[in-house]
Amino acid sequence: MPELPEVETIRGQLASRLEGRTFAVVDILDARLTRPLDPREVAAELQGERVVAVERRGKYLVVRLEGGAALLVHLRMTGSFRFEPTSHERAIVELEDGSRLAYRDARRFGTWVVVPGHELESYIGGKNGPEPLGPRFTTAWLAEQLSTRRAPLKAVLLDQRVVAGLGNIYADEALWRARLNPVRAAASLGAEEVRLLHRAIRAALRTGIRLQGSTLSTYAQPDGSPGTMQREFRVYGRAGEPCLRCRTPIAKTRVGGRGTWYCPYCQPTA
Ligand SMILES: [Zn+2]
Repeated sequence: MPELPEVETIRGQLASRLEGRTFAVVDILDARLTRPLDPREVAAELQGERVVAVERRGKYLVVRLEGGAALLVHLRMTGSFRFEPTSHERAIVELEDGSRLAYRDARRFGTWVVVPGHELESYIGGKNGPEPLGPRFTTAWLAEQLSTRRAPLKAVLLDQRVVAGLGNIYADEALWRARLNPVRAAASLGAEEVRLLHRAIRAALRTGIRLQGSTLSTYAQPDGSPGTMQREFRVYGRAGEPCLRCRTPIAKTRVGGRGTWYCPYCQPTA
C-alpha cells in the first residue's frame, strides 16, 4: 500500500508531465473508481480542464484544476499511474499534446473524487492531520495527540489524523529508529521519547522519499521504474534477521491487525 514516500514520488513524476497541460480526453473505465457517482459525469467534469498543480496531502494526490476544483486520487492498495500502456487500466487520460496517462489498479480499491475548490480544505483537513515533514507537525503536537490515547503506539501512529501519510512500513521503521515498542500505550511515552519519535518519523519518511519509495509487489513510479527503499528496511519484513544495531533476531507480531516488525532488545515493552 503506497504511503507518503511512494505517493510523493508519484506526485513528482505526475507534476512534470501534467502541470500546465489540459485533459483532452478522460475515459474512466471502472465505475468503482468514482462510485457512487457516474464515471461519465466525473470524466466530463475533468475533460477540458487544465492542470495547475499536482500536490500531495497525506496519501492523497491532489490534482488542482484551473477551474478551481481538484481531482483527489487515493491509491489504496494497488493504485498507480503509468505513462505507458499497462494491465489493469481503470482510467485513461489523454493530454492535449497527445501523451497518455493510465491509472492502473489490480485490486480496485482506489478512488477518484472531484472536489470543488471551496470544499477542498475541509474535505482533506477532516481526514488528515498535519504533514509530518511540514512546520505544523511539531513535537508538542505529537505529544498532545499521544497523551490522550491508551491504544498501542503503532495503532495511533497509523491514524491519518495524527500523522498524515504514515502507514505500516514507515511506522515500523520510525519505531525502530526511536527504539520504541509498537505495543506500548501511546500515552505512556515520556517527553524525550516523543522527541525521538518525532525525529524518527521524519527520518524514516525522508529516507523513503530519497529512495523513491518501496517496491514490494505492485508499486512503481509512473515511468515504470521501481523504488529502492525495500533494500534499506531496518525492520519491516525482516523477521528472524539480525537487528542492524544489536544483532538480536527481528520479531514479528500483529498490532491492530497489521503485521508489525520490531527488535525485542532495542524496543523493550517498558
Ligand atoms: Zn536491536
